[in-house]
Amino acid sequence: MPITVVGSIAYDTVKTPFGERERMLGGAAVHFALAARFFDHVRIVGPVGEDFAASDLDLIRKRGIDVSDVEHVPGGRTFFWRGEYGWDLNSRDTLATELGVFEGFQPKLSGSSRDSEILFLANIQPDLQREVRAQLPGARFVALDSMNLWIDTARDSLLQAIASVDCVILNDAELRQLTRKPNLVSAARELLAWAQAGGGAPHAGRRGPSVIVAKQGEYGAALITAESFFSLPAYPLETVIDPTGAGDTFAGGLVGYIAAHPQGELSDELLRRAMAHATVLASFNVEEFGTQRVARLTAEEIVARMGELREITQFSDAPLPLRA
Ligand code: AMP
Repeated sequence: MPITVVGSIAYDTVKTPFGERERMLGGAAVHFALAARFFDHVRIVGPVGEDFAASDLDLIRKRGIDVSDVEHVPGGRTFFWRGEYGWDLNSRDTLATELGVFEGFQPKLSGSSRDSEILFLANIQPDLQREVRAQLPGARFVALDSMNLWIDTARDSLLQAIASVDCVILNDAELRQLTRKPNLVSAARELLAWAQAGGGAPHAGRRGPSVIVAKQGEYGAALITAESFFSLPAYPLETVIDPTGAGDTFAGGLVGYIAAHPQGELSDELLRRAMAHATVLASFNVEEFGTQRVARLTAEEIVARMGELREITQFSDAPLPLRA
C-alpha cells in the first residue's frame, strides 16, 4: 500500500569524530523515504527553498519516490540543521535549526497523497503533523515521530497529534520526557493508557496509539503494545560514521514493512519482523555520512544482513534444573 510521508526535507551540516560535511541532503522525510521505498511506493510531502538543488530532487526521484507533493517556495530557504556528535554517538548537540520554508508552510496534499492508506508523520512541528493527518481521515495505519524540541515547545499540539495515530516512534529519553515516567516500560505503558483513556481528541473513532516503539540508539529498539514487549539490539557494527537520520531510516523500515502487508491484522509476529527490518535499514544508514549509504543500498544487502541479525539474536532454550 502506498505510503505518504510528511516531514523535513533538509540540508544538514554534521560534525562527528570522523569528519565533517556541509549542507548534505537530509531531513527526516528524506531519510524515511529512502528506506521505505524498498517495501512500497512512497510519496513525500514538504517544502523546499530556491537553494534546493535539482540534483538532490533527482536523487530522490530516481529511487522511485513520488516528489509531486514537494512544494518549491520561490525565494525561500530549505530547512537547515547543524549538529555535532562527540565520542558518544548516542547523544548530539543541535547547533542550529533554521525552519526556513517550513515557517508558514500549509500542506495541501494532492489526491494521490491523500489516498494513501499508510501515513508517516515524520519529525516536524506537530501543528503540521495534525494538518496532514486531517487530510487522510481514512488512513489504515498512521505512525508519528517527534523530538525533544517539540515536547518542550509544542507539547499540547504534540499530544493531540499523538492521539490521532496508531503508532508512536520516539527515542527512549523523549518517551520518558513526554510521559514524565522514569523508565522505558512505564513510559510506554503510560502512553498506551492515555490512548485507552481517550487522552486527546479521538480521530475517526480512534483513541490513540496501540503500538509504541522506543529507539535506543546503538543499544537497539523496543516494541511495546498492550499485550507484549519485544526488543532487538542494534546490528553490531565496528564502524559508525554518522548516526544522523538513523531514527528516520529505522521508521522507514518499520512502516515500509507494515505497508507491504496489506492483508490481515497487525499481528505481533508482523510487528516483530518489521522491527528487524527497521534495525537492518538503520544499521546501513550510520555507516556513512547523511543519506550516502542508504541511497546506494541494494535489496540483496538488506536480505543478507537480515540473515545475520537473525543469527545474532536467536538462542535456544535448554531447561536446566536450577539450584534452590
Ligand atoms: P534523526 O537523526 O533520525 O533524529 O534525524 C535527523 C534528521 O532530522 C536530520 O536530517 C535533520 O535535518 C532533521 N531534523 C533535525 N531537527 C529537526 C526538527 N526540529 N524538525 C524536523 N526535522 C529535524
